[in-house]
Amino acid sequence: MKYRLMDLLACPICKKFPLNLIVFMEEEIKPPHKIVRCELFCAYHNIDLSNQVSTDCEKCYSREIRDGLIFCGNCNRWYPIEEEIPRMLPDELRNKNDDISFLNKWRMKIPERILYEGKPSSLTTRNNI
Ligand SMILES: [Zn+2]
Ligand SMILES: [Zn+2]
Repeated sequence: MKYRLMDLLACPICKKFPLNLIVFMEEEIKPPHKIVRCELFCAYHNIDLSNQVSTDCEKCYSREIRDGLIFCGNCNRWYPIEEEIPRMLPDELRNKNDDISFLNKWRMKIPERILYEGKPSSLTTRNNI
């Protein structure tokens, strides 16, 4: 998934925009010839572009996020990014066991607020590994 996508993604449940991005693993790739700049929100530079004329968005295209998490600060939901694919599914289509193993797998890189209070699933105890 490219950083650029964060300029387009809103929370499927509460429609908040922009969402927060946490990157676990990323790799450099060759940027495409034609680059469209981020318009509203640039996730790589983490800036709101509504009062900004332009930003250097080459990095938004020359990095592929392999694993990470997208977090909605409004409804507290988190969405996994796995194998470069963001999975922005509504609660009823998510698998709780998969969600819990995802949180456990990356727990060292996930802020506590999401680990223990995130929706639709979160870890219940701070002690079991
Ligand atoms: Zn950008
Ligand atoms: Zn939301």
